[in-house]
Amino acid sequence: MAIPSFLQPRMLVAATMALALSACFGTPEAMKNNRGKRPDASASANTPKRPQVTGTPSFTGAEAQQCAFDLKQAGVRFTPLPNQDHGGGCSSIDSVKLLDIGTPVTNLGAMTCPLARNFAAWAQYAVRPAARKYFGQEVVKIETYGTYSCRNIYGGRSGRLSQHAYSNAVDVSGFVLADGRRIMLDGGWQGDKPSQEFLRALHKSACRRFGTVLSPDYNAAHYNHFHLDMSGNGYCR
Ligand SMILES: [Zn+2]
Repeated sequence: MAIPSFLQPRMLVAATMALALSACFGTPEAMKNNRGKRPDASASANTPKRPQVTGTPSFTGAEAQQCAFDLKQAGVRFTPLPNQDHGGGCSSIDSVKLLDIGTPVTNLGAMTCPLARNFAAWAQYAVRPAARKYFGQEVVKIETYGTYSCRNIYGGRSGRLSQHAYSNAVDVSGFVLADGRRIMLDGGWQGDKPSQEFLRALHKSACRRFGTVLSPDYNAAHYNHFHLDMSGNGYCR
């Protein structure tokens, strides 16, 4: 059936908005695609149905506005996200989608602004200089297992919600150098000398920037990533 021509521009607008929305709220799907890559990703008890797109305005408080200002000052490109109640106690409040922090990063979804600010600074002031120091190379990509995920700590059926459930954590799995070499937590943490020194330098720096940092030394569940979150007060393992 032919679409009346007067309807078409409106449909285009609707399609564009749908695209924009899916770009903003695509995280839970992205996380689903990553299932099975890490031991603690198997949680399903609290998997959200669909995020309710009933966002209230975000970045209304002074602290949140300061954080958004800091991100802009740092030259970071980002989209502020509307506040989201995902159900099951999971939420994204005063969160952003990072678009450009100077180094491409895989799998980033919603991140609370303070997490995004510290992550961007860690990439700029720790990751990139450390790669030059230990490998004489630029980092061309930071690989992660994602940010937002509505689940308990360790993916347990009961227990406390993970900081991932509040968009307040990111799991970093490795780094790609300009020559194509991949320095992964899985392998690199106990790998050759430069890899070990590089990853431990990043761990040390992360511990100064994030509230909680968990490395492969913490437990078996973290053998393949750094867990970085903004809760806690310098918990560094
Ligand atoms: Zn994590």
